Amino acid sequence: MAFTRGYKTRRDFLRAALLAAPAVTLLPGSSLASLTTARERHEVDLNFIDKELPLKRRAEWTRIMPNRLIMETTSGQPYDRITIHHQGCGVNTHISERAVARDLDGILGWHIRQNYGDIGYHFAVDYAGRVWECRSMDYWGAHVSGHNDRNIGVVLLGNFEQQRPSNEQIGTMEHLVHVLRNRYKVKRGRIYGHVDLGPTLCPGRYLQPSVEKLNNMA
Ligand SMILES: [Zn+2]
Repeated sequence: MAFTRGYKTRRDFLRAALLAAPAVTLLPGSSLASLTTARERHEVDLNFIDKELPLKRRAEWTRIMPNRLIMETTSGQPYDRITIHHQGCGVNTHISERAVARDLDGILGWHIRQNYGDIGYHFAVDYAGRVWECRSMDYWGAHVSGHNDRNIGVVLLGNFEQQRPSNEQIGTMEHLVHVLRNRYKVKRGRIYGHVDLGPTLCPGRYLQPSVEKLNNMA
């Protein structure tokens, strides 16, 4: 017989051949095809900040996941400017991590209602001078209308029309901006207060002079 290699009939042979064929073809976007490395996904590794300044990670203050479908990926393009903001609600001198986490959650909820997909800033600096990771740097921010591409958003908690920032806050802002501008080779004149880019009082009269000094710091 022609089908002696383990198969009694031609039909048995064909059935075995069909069973051996892959049942599905993997398409781009399927689970196996999406197992790419962090480098291929252009993920920013924040260790370069952690080495210089302790960074409270996003997962430490919220469980709400960003809606990445409506956020614009950087596709690995570099940042080349930094914009400083204030929180701009009432006076805020919160020191405890719990209170700060609640503040950040408040901003997050507000920004999600604005359809930003996540909190709009990349980093926050609290009154005690801690840095908190906000939205992933894999996505452009949502903090300056018309100027979000290539623009790192940093918010200092408080209202600096009504209060002065703490020395710790200013020190951390200077340190963080120094680390970020070194990393991304941000040129002099490319560090802004929000007010430099749009019609707003942000980051407030008591903070803006310190922001203007940042361009002249190495
Ligand atoms: Zn602002």
